[in-house]
Amino acid sequence: MSDLTRKSTTFHMIGGNLSIDFANHMLRLDHYSTAGDQFTIVLTWMEQAGLISNEQVQRYFFLNDNEPELVRMFLQNVIRLRVTVYNIFLALTQGNSPRQEDLGVLNEYVKDCYGHLTIADSTKGFVWQWVEERTVDDCLRPIVRSAAELLTSELLSRVRLCPGEHCGWLFLDTTKNRSRKWCDMKDCGNVVKARNYRKRHNSE
Ligand SMILES: [Zn+2]
Repeated sequence: MSDLTRKSTTFHMIGGNLSIDFANHMLRLDHYSTAGDQFTIVLTWMEQAGLISNEQVQRYFFLNDNEPELVRMFLQNVIRLRVTVYNIFLALTQGNSPRQEDLGVLNEYVKDCYGHLTIADSTKGFVWQWVEERTVDDCLRPIVRSAAELLTSELLSRVRLCPGEHCGWLFLDTTKNRSRKWCDMKDCGNVVKARNYRKRHNSE
């Protein structure tokens, strides 16, 4: 995948939460056939989500040629985290408890994630700070933290599954009257609106 393709790929962060956007956008990662393309997509997403800088993207980009095994393991890690986060939130949107197995995997990530946070004294007071990243896998930690924080927050009851056909995206409904129905009104919302419009007009 060329650098141009990478730059022209724009992710719509509509989930309202970092871990949900991650789960949504990585849902169809296997549509990209090569590990190189998948890696490019993940790096592009991470940059657009504000997890890594362009300088980091350029640095990690070379791993694909030099350390293909490392890239393969990173992609496995991405998919494992995505499946875990998605399964947990999906179960909750359907009124079910998440599977213990999924919670167990998430907790493995949580232990690692919070083991890499420190308290730093800044001009704005005390802040959480990440221990400096050493590998591309380390850059996934904010996603784990975001999932853990959402799971333990009052906003959890606001996680929804988009009812759009073949969609499967999750989102956080933060509207005052809890009325958000679609992942994106311009996308799934529009398809259904157009279908209902046709139905109405065909029956007239
Ligand atoms: Zn949708």
